[in-house]
Amino acid sequence: LTVLALESSADDTCAAVVTSDRKILSNVVINQQAFLEEYGGIHPFVALHAHQRNMPGAVQRALREANITIGEVDGIAFTRGPGIPGCLSVCGNAARTLAAAVNKPLVGVHHMQAHALTPFLTSPADALPTFPFLTLLVSGGHTLLLLATSPTAFRILATSLDESIGNAFDKVAKLLQIPYSGRAPGAALERFCTSGPAVGDEDIPEIHMPRPMRGRLAFSYTGLHSTVERFLDARRGEIDERTKLGVARSFQKAAVGQLEDKLVLGMRECAQKGIRVRHLVVSGGVASNSFLRERLRACLDTESPDERVELVFPPPHLCTDNAAMIGWAAMDRFLAGDTDPYSIESRPKWSLEELEGQGELRQG
Ligand code: ATP
Ligand code: FE
Repeated sequence: LTVLALESSADDTCAAVVTSDRKILSNVVINQQAFLEEYGGIHPFVALHAHQRNMPGAVQRALREANITIGEVDGIAFTRGPGIPGCLSVCGNAARTLAAAVNKPLVGVHHMQAHALTPFLTSPADALPTFPFLTLLVSGGHTLLLLATSPTAFRILATSLDESIGNAFDKVAKLLQIPYSGRAPGAALERFCTSGPAVGDEDIPEIHMPRPMRGRLAFSYTGLHSTVERFLDARRGEIDERTKLGVARSFQKAAVGQLEDKLVLGMRECAQKGIRVRHLVVSGGVASNSFLRERLRACLDTESPDERVELVFPPPHLCTDNAAMIGWAAMDRFLAGDTDPYSIESRPKWSLEELEGQGELRQG
């Protein structure tokens, strides 16, 4: 099967063509980084208008690059939710209308399920995760620790009670005025942390950061960025480069440390219930952070020294929002003939736990 997929749940306008034999024929992502910098975050109306402007061109490019016509695709998939209501309407309207016009089957996809299943599209065939596995989704919109027991059955072990880890990275990057021309603020912060003297250099101060929700399966990131804010306020924003480096590194360590803490709690809960987990899938924009990758590896080795838990990272460009993952997540339903009516509505609020019952279908 060959599927055209559309995604516009947040700030990227995406269209892709993927096949049931795991080929990505095209993957177009038009980002709105310029607007994000101008408005200091996603502005729903600005994002909506950008999606409206960009979606036709994204679809045209995705089909052209895949060297296929709309008449030749076997189905059309789109992000049904969760996301910003107006933004979701753009990929929803485009997909419904295209599917109806050319009389093709339609499938609406859960955005977070698509993130969690990405490794089945991207990992080598002999290194696919096996169910049950744990997933950490760490992005601008989410901080989630999930247990996946089938492609459609997910349990949320921990979620953020306030802001997401990606948001905290973005805010701290801005507070520290780290230039991020063109790249994600979080990525700029990571790069800044690797600049200057090595970690452990005595001249680089370590700033005390809170460890919120200790012992509980829940994330909280507001305290971290407000600690940085207060630190800077107390010094009227005047800090030297070494102190700035110390703040950035201390924040990054605490942000990732919280993921380690909750991962350990989640693994212990699974072990207590006799659930043997062999893989940890880490996805979302923050998953491209190298410090995070090193720390999670070390954390798994310490927590599970005898039974190795494999760490799985989709390639960075498929860790962030894209339509290839949407097409892939829809594939089982297309193959089973389990498709949606053209009148299907978007679901801006949609818990991953509500997916269960859609049927146990094949993956990989
Ligand atoms: P969602 O997919 O949950 O709706 P989103 O589209 O905002 O949210 P992504 O595009 O997956 O999320 O990720 C963007 C976030 O990842 C931003 O907050 C960005 O700063 C952060 N990020 C990207 N690269 C890095 C990095 N190397 N280190 C830390 N954070 C990073
Ligand atoms: Fe996403």
